[in-house]
Amino acid sequence: MARHTITLIPGDGVGPEVSTAARRVIYATGVEIDWEVHDAGLSVMEEFGDPLPAHVLDSIRRNKVAIKGPLTTPVGKGIRSVNVALRRELDLFALVRPCKSYPGVRSRYEDVDLVIVRENTEDLYAGIEFAEGEAQTLELIADIERLGGQRIRDDSGISIKPISIFGTERIFRFAFQWAIDNGRHKVTAVHKANIMKHTDGLWLRVADEVSREFPQVEFEERIVDNMTMQLVQKPELYDVMVMPNLYGDILSDLCAGLTGGLGLAPGANRGDTVAVFEATHGSAPKYAGLNKANPMAMMLSGVLMLRHIGEGDAGNRLESAIARVIAEGRSVTYDMKPERDDPTAVGTSQVADAVIEALGTA
Ligand code: NAD
Repeated sequence: MARHTITLIPGDGVGPEVSTAARRVIYATGVEIDWEVHDAGLSVMEEFGDPLPAHVLDSIRRNKVAIKGPLTTPVGKGIRSVNVALRRELDLFALVRPCKSYPGVRSRYEDVDLVIVRENTEDLYAGIEFAEGEAQTLELIADIERLGGQRIRDDSGISIKPISIFGTERIFRFAFQWAIDNGRHKVTAVHKANIMKHTDGLWLRVADEVSREFPQVEFEERIVDNMTMQLVQKPELYDVMVMPNLYGDILSDLCAGLTGGLGLAPGANRGDTVAVFEATHGSAPKYAGLNKANPMAMMLSGVLMLRHIGEGDAGNRLESAIARVIAEGRSVTYDMKPERDDPTAVGTSQVADAVIEALGTA
């Protein structure tokens, strides 16, 4: 069996606990992995002067595959988000987030099986921002008035939303190909082209053009506000949904909510050659170190990673073992119990124990 070398960033907050749990269950599948473990985020700022040091990026570039725990981004302190920086530095342009309901999960819905493909590099997440009151911002406001005749109030902050033909073609080609490779039959382009004609309008036009390259996959479009309502009312109508960065961020949490919450939502950041797997959830600081966080989102990210590295059989066995633990309902964390303070809820490491046991008896 081939050995794999993979970069592991444990993360902070609940990251180290869910990462350890994921690493243990991946080990139990029998797939041989040499882990290159590197810290990133606030904890390494002092030592390396950068929350995302070059040696971490080098490790991922070399290995081409990484799995990471969540990293805290302090609000409004001028520290760049490591998560956003990682996606940008490695040009991880697609974020694939499967949202699938497993029998036994406490949810209002059954049989949900959706995939969000989120464009990861453009849109309002591009990080082009101008602070209120600064000279450059006032200059920009004057330029906008001169060029377009629209007066923006002087006391405004401004965030820029770029959406390019290149970025849109790339994400839709990726999404259609992903749909074909994974036996999916429909791609829905999500947008707000009726209001943002030059960004979302471009997105929709290019999506339609790319869809013609993939006649074997059905293509349709939805305005994002309608999409949110449709997802709540009729999630079974949708399959692969492709959306710009910000809508993708918001709708990922919506879809996680349809399928049992953030504790169960995995993700894969994909570039042309590099892939970084991570849960949708954040660092949940209030549960850090308490052995409370649900490790299943991180484990399911591990399932996606195993499939990506050609260990599909191990990935399928791990997913089945997780599904069995969910269906039995005994060894699950607080968030999967009917009441949040259910005394029968188990901890992060006990979930890993149960999944390893289920793997052993599969
Ligand atoms: P969060 O996902 O950390 O928490 C949202 C809610 O879900 C909280 O109530 C939390 O306790 C709960 N939760 C999250 N993960 C859970 C798990 N595995 N098991 C059980 N409950 C879980 O979101 P937030 O509070 O908005 O963000 C906290 C920090 O994480 C912020 O600094 C944010 O920037 C960062 N963040 C990082 C990533 C990432 O690394 N990719 C993603 C999102 C947020």
